[in-house]
Amino acid sequence: MTNRFERPDRVQFEVQDYATDTLAVRAGQERTPEGEHSDPIYPTSSFVFSSAREAAARFGGEEEGNIYSRFTNPTVRAFEKRIAAMEGGERAVATSSGMAAILALGLSLMKQGDHVVCSQSVFGSTVSLFDKYLSRAGIETTYVDPTDLAAWEAAIRPETRMLFLETPSNPLGEMSDIAALSKVAREHDALLVVDNCFLTPVLQKPLELGADIVMHSATKYIDGQGRCLGGVVVGREAEMEQVFGFLRTGGTCMSPFNAWVFLKGLETLPLRMRAHSDAALQLAKWLEAQPGVERVFYTGLESHPQYELACRQQKGFGGVLSFEVKGDKDAAWRFIDATEMVSITGNLGDVKTTITHPATTTHGRMTPEDRARAGIKDNLIRFSVGLEDIEDLKKDLSRGLQAI
Ligand SMILES: *Cc1c(COP(=O)(O)O)cnc(C)c1O
Repeated sequence: MTNRFERPDRVQFEVQDYATDTLAVRAGQERTPEGEHSDPIYPTSSFVFSSAREAAARFGGEEEGNIYSRFTNPTVRAFEKRIAAMEGGERAVATSSGMAAILALGLSLMKQGDHVVCSQSVFGSTVSLFDKYLSRAGIETTYVDPTDLAAWEAAIRPETRMLFLETPSNPLGEMSDIAALSKVAREHDALLVVDNCFLTPVLQKPLELGADIVMHSATKYIDGQGRCLGGVVVGREAEMEQVFGFLRTGGTCMSPFNAWVFLKGLETLPLRMRAHSDAALQLAKWLEAQPGVERVFYTGLESHPQYELACRQQKGFGGVLSFEVKGDKDAAWRFIDATEMVSITGNLGDVKTTITHPATTTHGRMTPEDRARAGIKDNLIRFSVGLEDIEDLKKDLSRGLQAI
């Protein structure tokens, strides 16, 4: 996969000469002789050949070209090229969901006897995938405090193949130092994988900081409007070829329609991420000053214990914040039920603001002890700030505050 974008019969642009905002709208498009301006969509399961000889050459890998949409589809390829350019990776492989991206990484880059060191503050299904399913393939996982560099080092064994983390974490915004951990990973011949779902390449570029692989749930900010499920993995050619090999056989591929939606999503991603971030920072500061609020968790606040790292590692703080209300679970539920506009749902990264009670929904399957250890209290509320008017959002939050 070449890292360039093109105008037919005219100029080829090398992606390294362009900024992320430009790549978001232009990278990856392979214009056809029709001269279409917008990205075309190819809803076809297979492709035809001009002769038996060409078919054989394509299947044999001697000739490049499309064969079958489980592993070669031009719309999916355009999405892969665009996100690879934005993350600064050599190649991307798209998957049917964010979880399928982690499954593909696990099954293609590891084997029986390998070991993973994983942040204890990752997406709940990520923990289930490692503990319930990759464990069956003989891959063991140890969980560590994502903020504690010494704990990561101490957990590494000779058979450790992968370090896996999300930064900032959900819902408490704990951070891992990507540059420092990439050195640890390299010293131990392990791969550092960063789930960059919360910040996207607009606000954080893990590969530039030394990570080996970046992955996304495209379902969140990349779509940005809550329409489609998808995932993607980005990294060096060598590892991506292995992930691609798994996808080709494993079949957890992205559909052309979803790839087309995500291409459109990427075009507005820089604008949206900056707007989500600006609004979240304003609301985090506003919430911190409210008497009914115990504590606000957001990497953009000076009160955040890793504020300095956030300023160094991120280009913005993202759209998700959490806060504890003064009171118990019932107070948190009363707060949520008193809001009128925001959506009560577990999803995030949408233009519509969403509100969640983690202890009884996204983190409800954890035991109370595990939840306590993770710092997720019953009075915690997560807020994924959308693109509504900020004063309307404050009014809705005020309704909640009055009800606690
Ligand atoms: C949602 C999410 C996932 C899983 O993605 P799906 O597209 O829902 O499969 C993984 N990581 C993070 C951080 C997420 O928020």
